Amino acid sequence: MPLYDSEAVVLRTVDFREADRIVTFLTPGHGRLSGLARGAKRLRSRFGASLEVLTHGRLVYFDRQGKNLIGINHFDVLHSFQGIREDLLRSASSQYLAELALHFVPERQAAPECFGLLVAALGQMEAAKGPEALLRIFEIQFLALLGYAPRLDACVSCGRKAAAYGFSSKQGGLVCGGCGGASKDLASVSRGAVHFWRKASELSRERIGRVALDRRLNGELKRVLHGYLLYLLGREIRSFTFLERLRREFGQVRAAR
Ligand SMILES: [Zn+2]
Repeated sequence: MPLYDSEAVVLRTVDFREADRIVTFLTPGHGRLSGLARGAKRLRSRFGASLEVLTHGRLVYFDRQGKNLIGINHFDVLHSFQGIREDLLRSASSQYLAELALHFVPERQAAPECFGLLVAALGQMEAAKGPEALLRIFEIQFLALLGYAPRLDACVSCGRKAAAYGFSSKQGGLVCGGCGGASKDLASVSRGAVHFWRKASELSRERIGRVALDRRLNGELKRVLHGYLLYLLGREIRSFTFLERLRREFGQVRAAR
């Protein structure tokens, strides 16, 4: 049975049977992979605490032809991102990124760019100027890597430039008043938001955590991007809902002081 050796990030773990765990990873060479970690729930497991969501490590596994699950041989931690785990908002933000990768990256297809983006985002999450800005930039770059970059330079329907646009998730881009005037599925989008989106798509991976984004613009981009992601996925993203609830509760605690 051939053994493989790859970098990997843990995206999800689910308890399985009495002592085992099913772990889903993102790898550069084979995209999303799920495997059985035998005995991982036991206190003295050979995996220790390494198989935690968000951990970046080196995965050694065997893959049997025709089997859905890989067999996990070892997983050695490269980065545990301890600083993220100690901060509730940053940890929930990172879980959201992991969930996006879980839902969107196909199984067993090379995804080196998505992998690189996720590792870069986790590496910068701890010290990011604004974790929210980092989330928006991740969403923008991740969508583009998956082939869903929207048209942002002109109307996606007629190709003309306009003074103002709406955003159509269905058509994947900006729509001018003439083409989409009465359509209810258009989200309003300001010039500032379009400008940020375009700049964010060109940002080098080393700088994605160094950008600040004001609250109003973040709120607008979050609404448009979330609508687009939901349209593509066809379902709600659990960790996004959790993160929004956390933010509201934190906001209330702050307001009450
Ligand atoms: Zn048009």
